[in-house]
Amino acid sequence: MYKLRTKITLSYVIISLVIVGIIGIIANVMLEKIFREYVINALQQKNTEIVSQIADSYNPKTNMWSHEVLDSIGMNALANNLFVKLKDKEDVYVWDAWKHNNGLCTLLLQNMSQNMYKRYPKFNGEYTEKNYDIVVHNTKVGSVDIGYYGPYFYTDSDLKFINSLNVMLAVVVIFSLAIALILGLYISFRLTDPISKVINAANQITNGNLSERVTVKSRTKEIHELISTINNLAETLEAVEGLRKQMTSDIAHELRTPLSTVRSHMEAMIDGIWKPDTARLKSCHEEIMRLNRMVDDLKKLSEFEANNLKLTKTSFDFSELIDRITLNFEAAFVNKGIQFTTNNYYTGAFYGDRDKISQIIVNLLSNALCYTDKGGEVSVTTTQIDENMVITVCDTGIGMLEKELPFIFERFYRTDKSRTKATGGTGIGLTIVKSLVLAHEGTIVVESQLGEGSRFIVKLPLKNFV
Ligand code: ADP
Repeated sequence: MYKLRTKITLSYVIISLVIVGIIGIIANVMLEKIFREYVINALQQKNTEIVSQIADSYNPKTNMWSHEVLDSIGMNALANNLFVKLKDKEDVYVWDAWKHNNGLCTLLLQNMSQNMYKRYPKFNGEYTEKNYDIVVHNTKVGSVDIGYYGPYFYTDSDLKFINSLNVMLAVVVIFSLAIALILGLYISFRLTDPISKVINAANQITNGNLSERVTVKSRTKEIHELISTINNLAETLEAVEGLRKQMTSDIAHELRTPLSTVRSHMEAMIDGIWKPDTARLKSCHEEIMRLNRMVDDLKKLSEFEANNLKLTKTSFDFSELIDRITLNFEAAFVNKGIQFTTNNYYTGAFYGDRDKISQIIVNLLSNALCYTDKGGEVSVTTTQIDENMVITVCDTGIGMLEKELPFIFERFYRTDKSRTKATGGTGIGLTIVKSLVLAHEGTIVVESQLGEGSRFIVKLPLKNFV
């Protein structure tokens, strides 16, 4: 497996190599072609120039050329690697470069052939001559053969020019490769550095170090999201771990009180300090029943919390549900001497988890029943306010202190007043209610005054109703 850094750097180098290579090849081929055409044109132009110079130097009066001028034209042409052979109209050579300086001509021809073979080892060139008529005042006065190394040739300075072009291309290649390498290394570092930090943090989190966070910043969207995902994951894990610890200590704490009560009762009876009479056994039994309720509630809570999001939503008749619950509670309220009324103002259908909505109302009514004394009143009202269905459970019971209200939805929380009651619950009922209300995207608030009574208001959005 390759490192991301190696891969990115390598791809940068390969891409630049390919691009520079293509540009290099195209430039080379094109430049060479253009240069060749330029050389051939220049040759043509020089030939024409020589012909017109020769024509200009002809003296029509004497029908002759000045030898001095011809020498100068011929030598000038030789300097340009062109071999002039001039004949008059009788085909008699007037000036011949080969005769003038045979050694120099051979040397020049050799040099050019060497130049061309150096550049193109398979070059198929040879000494070539082109013939032009010399025309003065519309009369042919002679002809000239201009010889050169054909079909075209490069002089020393031409070769120098081509070579320097190639050197320039090589420099461009080297520079682009170096820049690609540096850029590749830099960009891959910018990309891989935060990723390695995320990997380190994830490893730390795996090893149980849940407070670990990735602090590095990245302006790459995906890496930024990866960092926040890992940080969110760590936060969630830390919160869950905190809750788990809190819950374990809460449960241990809550179980300790009834267990030590039962244990001390039992020990007193075993030691013969107390007689195992009905009253004492009943008290033990009550504690055991409380423990039993607590375990049941805990089981329920863990089920609800685990399935929080797994609501089995259906559309159901809400007033029918309230009627059924009311019917189940009626006898209990009558037995306790409490006046119980139901006001069903919401008669429509509701879309939600029927069992869980039922559990919310049952828990609130159980509390009202539990914390209201004989002669009191309890009512349950349902209405629609805006886009919400509102359930209000009202009682004239023992009520709660204002400072206790923020805590009553915490698990195991019980107010001082209720703790003194023998029939006190486990402090889990309202925790269940809150988690069920939240699962339905609703809200729950409580209004209460000590000794006056309490009012629980549950708002469940009807927008879920489709
Ligand atoms: P419990 O099983 O103890 O009733 P809950 O979670 O249902 O547990 O309630 C938490 C605490 O809130 C109760 O112990 C009680 O002190 C207080 N509480 C709940 N409902 C009422 C009420 N209707 N009137 C007075 N106090 C209440």
